[in-house]
Amino acid sequence: MKKCIPLLGLMIVLTGLMSRLYAQADSVMAKNISNEIMLHGAAYDNLRVLCKTIGHRLSGSPQQDKAIAWGKALLEQSGADKVWLQPVMVPKWTRGKESLRIKNEGKWISIPMLSLGNSEGTNGKTLSAEIIYFDNMDALKAAPEAAVKGKIVFLNYAFRQDFLKTFDAYSDIAAYRFNGANVAAKKGAVGLIIRSLSTGLKDVPHTGSMRYEDEVQKIPALAIGNSTAAALGDWCKKGKPVAELRSECGMKEMVMAYNVIGELQGTQEGYLVVGGHLDSWDVGEGAQDDGAGCVQSIEVLRTLKKLNIKPKHTIRVVLFANEENGMKGGLAYADSAKAKNERHILALESDEGGYTPRGFSLKMTDADRATIKTWKNIFFPMGVYDFEEEGGGVDIGPLAKQGCRLAGLMPDSQRYFDMHHSQNDVFEDVNKRELHLGAVAMTTFIYMADQYFD
Ligand SMILES: [Zn+2]
Repeated sequence: MKKCIPLLGLMIVLTGLMSRLYAQADSVMAKNISNEIMLHGAAYDNLRVLCKTIGHRLSGSPQQDKAIAWGKALLEQSGADKVWLQPVMVPKWTRGKESLRIKNEGKWISIPMLSLGNSEGTNGKTLSAEIIYFDNMDALKAAPEAAVKGKIVFLNYAFRQDFLKTFDAYSDIAAYRFNGANVAAKKGAVGLIIRSLSTGLKDVPHTGSMRYEDEVQKIPALAIGNSTAAALGDWCKKGKPVAELRSECGMKEMVMAYNVIGELQGTQEGYLVVGGHLDSWDVGEGAQDDGAGCVQSIEVLRTLKKLNIKPKHTIRVVLFANEENGMKGGLAYADSAKAKNERHILALESDEGGYTPRGFSLKMTDADRATIKTWKNIFFPMGVYDFEEEGGGVDIGPLAKQGCRLAGLMPDSQRYFDMHHSQNDVFEDVNKRELHLGAVAMTTFIYMADQYFD
């Protein structure tokens, strides 16, 4: 028994020494990764090409097809062992022309507006109706049908500035955009105007996804900017403004699109995924949402290849199709993984903008989260230290059912909803250092996950 004690002591010392050596090796690798990306990173230039030569790329649009070809060529050029296109049917929605005029105190005023994604329009005809005002959804739900029937409902509920985390405020208001038209139509309304889901002070409308319930009248739904909404609120309190809406938007057929996939092959069984979504809304350039996530994910692969890091598991970059108005790409990827029995160890998504990274949201067991927290010294110099949030991402979400660990890059979110889904989501809004620092955090995270998870 006594002989065991020195042996046990020796083992403890050796284990401690080994983990210190591993930690040192990880730190050296993290520094190599950050040097490569901060000095020679390609993500920013790649994003410029995507935004300025292709532009926005709504599902089913010609720009979407160009973006798919761009992504495939770039993954090949970045050193992927294998690149392919995974077919997926996506909804094709088009906007066409649209205009909104409001008559207040006898004067007609043109109002900047955007129809909500997936909304039906007025078939190009003029829809003219009185506007009825509501502070929030509960007030609309409580209103008698007779008061709402035949009118255009205006829901003036604003993005909550008192939420310190902007994504919490987004969750709080999301139902207004996604479901407001259903609630209004059930009361007999003929249209819906919402205040944009935006922190922004600039008076630009923000679009985004909505969905009609079955059996509900498909009334046109649109958003207006924050200060116009405030003004319209005043007009409604003083009088009875009338709106004239003309819009051509509508859902067309399902069309073929593709998830763009590139991989670095590992020596062991199992997959790690890193991705963002290639589609965007049809205004702006889809720079922060989510061109940033796409070029950062490609940068992960380029950097590992450049540094000659041979991953243990196969690392896949996935540029998902149709996140914005159908989520068909994420579902198709998970279906394929399941059908092929591909064991997914971890998936990381970047879809909250290319701003300064602050942490990773995680959806995994407490033990796995604890493992990631032991890496904190590696991430601390990047200013990445928040590993507390629960999360992942929309596109990788369906992989959770197969036991895949999920992670989402969490950048500073304070400016994200200023430009989100609006004409202001352009390349000029993206800062090179911030974007590349996000890619450093993601590459380091994938490297560590490949080492420490099986
Ligand atoms: Zn997005």
